[in-house]
Amino acid sequence: MNHPHSHEIAQALVDWFTQCGKDYPWRRTTDPWAILVSEIMLQQTTIPTVLGRYEKWMQQFPTPQALAAASEEEALRSWEGLGYYRRVKSLRAAALVITEKHGGIFPESAEEILALPGVGDYTVGAILSFAWNRPAPIVDANVSRVFARLCNDYTPIDSPAGKRAQWALAAEMVHPSQPRAYNSALMELGQMVCTPASPACIICPVRAFCLAQNPTDLPVKTPHKEITSLTHHDIWYLTNEGLLLEKQAEGSRHAGLYRLPQREPEQVRNLPLICKQQYNVTRYNVTRHLYLAEASHTSPKEGEEFIPLHRLNGIPMASPDRKLILRYLQKGEDSV
Ligand code: SF4
Repeated sequence: MNHPHSHEIAQALVDWFTQCGKDYPWRRTTDPWAILVSEIMLQQTTIPTVLGRYEKWMQQFPTPQALAAASEEEALRSWEGLGYYRRVKSLRAAALVITEKHGGIFPESAEEILALPGVGDYTVGAILSFAWNRPAPIVDANVSRVFARLCNDYTPIDSPAGKRAQWALAAEMVHPSQPRAYNSALMELGQMVCTPASPACIICPVRAFCLAQNPTDLPVKTPHKEITSLTHHDIWYLTNEGLLLEKQAEGSRHAGLYRLPQREPEQVRNLPLICKQQYNVTRYNVTRHLYLAEASHTSPKEGEEFIPLHRLNGIPMASPDRKLILRYLQKGEDSV
């Protein structure tokens, strides 16, 4: 993938961004820690959601040392609602590396930043350019789409050849003296103008250089995996000691987070169904059935413990679990 006017495009993007770039809190800082936090939050969460959480998080954990000093449970609880909890575990692991290996000073070399847990090539480019204004390339989903359209390139963007070509173009195109503004502009073009379903070509600052014939046909991706349906059978077992919950084991996707205990279908066959929940997450369509259990029906398994109701707010849970618990606590049996 290449473009005969890559340098003109870069300059046009910088000029456009200088005039109309959006003002986000993470664009007002050159602190690499704050930039790392914003980039990790923005990876799989929308800008409006991050805007509502970022500054509060930075007040709670303004430095790598502050996050390194917090327990994993505290970090997970603060992240609740942002989803994809591996991100906060990696962020805390990165904070520990910065604190213990780098003496609390954020590393400045690309190799050392790339070695931080949860950091990939995109995040390295973002930190180098946004914190130190160094001409480092970035490629993410927005940039891939913009590049495929600018070059009218039908190579699948998630193929090895497609990825190589995008990074090569990103390195070629990055503005040598204003990489901070250029990379911000590239992201913003993808977020606000060159959007997936309805690119606003009429107001696009690089329209004069765009080779796309049918922009909405691009980018091309390899076919998605099919949606898989999952059904879980959870139990509601409340005693004087509290609500029975399971702390998810290390190695599982939600390790460290609590959830309602799950049982096999035959173990809940005779229990009253009290609540249903359905939601989509990544490529799964999840249906959860909640059954009312009593001491005669079940006993706690390994990893399960009674949590007093007044402690529920302080322990980390994935959003669907908290919603299901709150829904039943608030609405009771009307929830079915
Ligand atoms: S002209 Fe249209 S398709 Fe091309 S980069 Fe701009 S918004 Fe995207």
